[in-house]
Amino acid sequence: MPPGVLLVTGGSRGIGAATVRAAAAAGWSVALTYRDDEAAAAAVVADVEAAGGTAAAVPADVAVEDDVVSAFAAAADALGPVTGLVANAGIVGPRARVDEYTAERVRRVLEVNVLGAVLCCREAVRRMSTRHGGSGGSVVLVSSVASRLGSPGEYVDYAASKGAVDTLGIGLAREVAGEGVRVNVVRPGIIETEIHASGGQPDRVARIGPTVPMGRAGLPAEVAAAVLWLLGEDSGYCTGTLLDVTGGR
Ligand code: NAP
Repeated sequence: MPPGVLLVTGGSRGIGAATVRAAAAAGWSVALTYRDDEAAAAAVVADVEAAGGTAAAVPADVAVEDDVVSAFAAAADALGPVTGLVANAGIVGPRARVDEYTAERVRRVLEVNVLGAVLCCREAVRRMSTRHGGSGGSVVLVSSVASRLGSPGEYVDYAASKGAVDTLGIGLAREVAGEGVRVNVVRPGIIETEIHASGGQPDRVARIGPTVPMGRAGLPAEVAAAVLWLLGEDSGYCTGTLLDVTGGR
């Protein structure tokens, strides 16, 4: 897919914001969603515009069906037909064992990470698939290496949600491969973002980074580069691919 209109969920901070910047630099017009942090989203849009690119911020909780539908509609209204999706928005709960979980905690993790990704994929396919009159497109799901490590003692529910994201990518890729839509998955390792502090572990990068085979945590831009490759034409024969970006972890 040549660069067109891209929707990035959770584009206000971290890996999503780096993806928005990289995509805009590569020629995509980018709609980025955020949930709470309007100022952070506006700052990313300002950065993109200062660099000569095009971006628009759209508020949406990906766990809310109406928000997702509205976000795709707003992106198309502002920028044109959506031909790319990066389903990036995701959360972790506080560090806890499974025998300490509340149902409410697990429900929220699954609603944001799994239901949110599925709803975004549904809207993307409805717009991109040749079966629905679209001209094709490219979807990248942001999963995690947690799907194969399991995150014991930290957040097994999060790891399980990312296992579901991996399988969503494999299944959807095969479902729409003949309809002009590619679907791929990026699985980051430990990356320097605010997600660790949001889960109550602000020291997590300093603690785990040195234990990674490459001896350090990754940067959001290093994940964004992998996302951009899978999104674009250079990966044109890849679909249902899981790409680990983990420093060897
Ligand atoms: P982050 O810095 O915490 O940023 C999360 C982004 O998602 C923010 O833009 C946030 O919006 C948005 N968001 C959160 N909940 C949302 C919701 N319900 N609806 C819409 N947007 C929502 O996280 P990150 O580290 O960049 O993580 C991005 C993705 O990478 C996640 O899927 C995460 O699981 C995955 N990942 C991260 C790492 C890592 O080490 N950082 C490793 C593996 C995988 P607001 O700014 O408005 O809150």
